[in-house]
Amino acid sequence: MDKIDIKNISKDELRNELVRLGEKPYRAGQIFRWLYKSGVNSFEEMTDLGKGLRDKLKERFHITKLILADSKHSLIDGTVKYLFKLEDVNTIESVFLPEDNRVTLCLSSQVGCKFGCSFCASAPFGFIRDLKTSEILDEALSIRRHNPSSAITNIVFMGIGEPLDNYDNVMKSIRIMNDADAMKIGARKITISTCGLIPGMKRLAGEKLQVELSVSLHSADDKVRSALVPINKRYPLKELMAACKEYTKKTKRIITFEYILLKDMNSSKEDARKLSALLKGLMCKVNLIMYNQVSPVRNYSASTGTDAKGYKAPEAAQAKEFIGMLKRSGVNVMLRKSKGEDIDAGCGQLRISAMRPARG
Ligand code: SAH
Repeated sequence: MDKIDIKNISKDELRNELVRLGEKPYRAGQIFRWLYKSGVNSFEEMTDLGKGLRDKLKERFHITKLILADSKHSLIDGTVKYLFKLEDVNTIESVFLPEDNRVTLCLSSQVGCKFGCSFCASAPFGFIRDLKTSEILDEALSIRRHNPSSAITNIVFMGIGEPLDNYDNVMKSIRIMNDADAMKIGARKITISTCGLIPGMKRLAGEKLQVELSVSLHSADDKVRSALVPINKRYPLKELMAACKEYTKKTKRIITFEYILLKDMNSSKEDARKLSALLKGLMCKVNLIMYNQVSPVRNYSASTGTDAKGYKAPEAAQAKEFIGMLKRSGVNVMLRKSKGEDIDAGCGQLRISAMRPARG
């Protein structure tokens, strides 16, 4: 029989396995503490378990870990971007974002992505597979191992992939991160970011866990949003906003809308007016993000200032005007500080350089 990947199972499933092995269920808590608090990579290191139990565990389970393939350290703000190799040949990215009073990890949920957002660095490479629960947890555990003096306070699923398209594995990893015997990260400190998958949002609204929801909006106009976020053709703004309203009503929690500012696409005065009209009456806040150029050096066009995708961020003055208009109409809005600009910290960019053979 194949060994079970022990970080792929919930605490309840582990309890059941232990009972099957003739052990006491409370051992699950002890094992969880070794795996997720101490972060050990072998059963040998679980020194308060008797040798008999350790041998049984070794027979029944295995402990996975990720292999560090590359990392880039920002000299500006301490951001570190990691490229990890999975047990197959695939690679994923995760980012460590230290700030004054918090440490956020930005995790990937899938190898690649199906949704093809036009501005996203990962989109051209398509979808390969979902990440397993253990692989998601291993992203956090590996980063913690590389930064032992920083206590992780926040998790955002804003790396590669669409978390609501890998719903079960993502939720299972969140429950383990949240567990007091594991990483003990408050559910409210964990954010799921979606391109707007309505069925997943409905499911999430029914969960007991109070995780934060971000919706990547990027435009208040169906035509523009469909060009930027193609899933908008399937779940257009009217339906998306109805689902958001239903979510806030059911959970009594606000939604954060992510909005990348793209010059000549979505950041005019008219766009600001449309956005505030769309959000009227909804319990929400807006995070504006200056577009992060995809591989700026390789693809930068000196004549237009745009990257390979033909996009660039608006000038600071235009962004200021956009924010000002939203604020004046009562929208709770902030401009998210861009992190790790010197290391291409935009999602998917490290993986691109690893996947593209260097031209010589
Ligand atoms: N699929 C999910 C999570 C991945 S994207 C989603 O769509 O929300 C996570 C965030 O990074 C999103 O808000 C996305 O819009 C933003 N993002 C992606 N590429 C970017 C770029 N080139 N510049 C700035 N933000 C980007």
